Amino acid sequence: MSPKQRRKLWDVLRPKLKKEFDALGITRCEVCGIGIFLGFAHRYKRRFIHTEEELRLVALLCAGCHEEIEFTGHLPMYERITSIIENREAGYNPSIHA
Ligand SMILES: [Zn+2]
Repeated sequence: MSPKQRRKLWDVLRPKLKKEFDALGITRCEVCGIGIFLGFAHRYKRRFIHTEEELRLVALLCAGCHEEIEFTGHLPMYERITSIIENREAGYNPSIHA
């Protein structure tokens, strides 16, 4: 997947994921619980993502938590986001909702 394809796909996926998250009541930062400055966080930095499945594996984080997690480095970021996804009460894994 080229950067251009990834950007296009993400533009399509983002509003879909937003709807899925809203429907499940995941409307706050999944780390600290605040309800503002929210965005999706991936397990990898965007440039290392090459599949739709990985692009869909996101946690909803506020800007502060997102920055903090990104700052910890590749592996801790991967593990943290994976753990948030796996431990959701809703059992929701966005990669399996096509
Ligand atoms: Zn937060």
